Amino acid sequence: MTCKKIILRRGKEESLLRRHPWVFSGAIERGDEGIVEGDVVDVFTREGDFIARGHSQVGSIAVRALTFEQETLDQEWWNGRLASAFALRRALGLTDGTHTDTYRLVHGEGDRLPGLVVDIYGATAVVQCHSVGMYLSRSEITAAIRALPGLRVEAVFDKSSQTLPHKADLGASDSCLWGVSGGEGEVRENGHRFVVDWKRGQKTGFFVDQRENRRLVGSYAAGRRTLNTFSYTGGFSVYALGGGAVSVDSVDSSQRAVDLAARNVTLNFGPEAPHRAMAEDAFDFLSRSQQDSYDMIILDPPAFAKHHKVLGSAMQGYKRLNVAALRKIAPGGILFTFSCSQAVSRELFRTTLFSAAAIAGRRVRILHQLTQPADHPIDIYHPEGEYLKGLALYVE
Ligand code: SAH
Repeated sequence: MTCKKIILRRGKEESLLRRHPWVFSGAIERGDEGIVEGDVVDVFTREGDFIARGHSQVGSIAVRALTFEQETLDQEWWNGRLASAFALRRALGLTDGTHTDTYRLVHGEGDRLPGLVVDIYGATAVVQCHSVGMYLSRSEITAAIRALPGLRVEAVFDKSSQTLPHKADLGASDSCLWGVSGGEGEVRENGHRFVVDWKRGQKTGFFVDQRENRRLVGSYAAGRRTLNTFSYTGGFSVYALGGGAVSVDSVDSSQRAVDLAARNVTLNFGPEAPHRAMAEDAFDFLSRSQQDSYDMIILDPPAFAKHHKVLGSAMQGYKRLNVAALRKIAPGGILFTFSCSQAVSRELFRTTLFSAAAIAGRRVRILHQLTQPADHPIDIYHPEGEYLKGLALYVE
């Protein structure tokens, strides 16, 4: 396999030697003529030693390394990477499909496949490419998914139109790469049923990363009047009702999301379940809700800080939101609060909750420190893979 070459500036191979998979554009001395985004390129030190092979990109990350070996990235290679990802999920007990048939099969750098996400929804695998290189490899990826012994999928669906780099006009159309899929389907998670709309829904259709945290919410729900803000399609709401919440209000700014939340509640508990689904801004809803009307509140907003540059204003947003919830929650209430911004560290998030508690004037204790589940693994050499953090707080 001969690839175009990129030569690093002297000494710039340090992080790659530690198997961090990103080459920043500032580390590059020169590259071969004619490299286009998505090409597989070889990265060499200034001294001429091979160091990594990966996908070229336009932007501050210029190469995402797929391997640190001089190996051919043929179908067998893709099959091996997918098989290794599947072996991990099997070890986690996620692949037998008994109580749960939705999980993340590939989590980008965490599975040594930078730029690729694959989520399993029952018999459909949803592929989401975040780089041109991955998108150009979609046939190999599809073949590798189909070749997995033990994984029974009937369709591979591409959901990359919103996640590919801005100018990459690759004609991604959010449709099947193989098989037939109606665009939505029913899945099971810890025994609960959910309709997932992978064609029109957000991300790949469902936030599988909250599976374990949803279960914890369910375990605290008995007898609690529950508010689930940023509810999306009602993941936390269904678990809260399953755990015996006396009532659940789901609030999300997306009408489509709350419609599906209502449908998911009905699917599990029938039309009489004590549930209200409201399409409204969560900040507005909290500011107009009565004090002490909820004994459990969930705050799971989208990433407020997409980049470090906007961290300051993002933290103001998290603080304002948490102050509002801490002011409203009844004494003895439990607040589940999350941030999925990679740029927000665990420490910073906790400090922000400290400020919010002080402003709201409540006594607050930390019950649980929450994170992403094991099917969203973090490569020890790529700490940036850690993104989801949460706190379960007891509020007096
Ligand atoms: N907790 C959900 C996932 C939340 S994703 C689950 O377990 O499935 C974040 C959600 O916040 C999205 O559904 C988005 O529509 C919603 N959202 C974004 N901004 C909002 C706002 N200002 N008020 C209410 N919802 C908002």
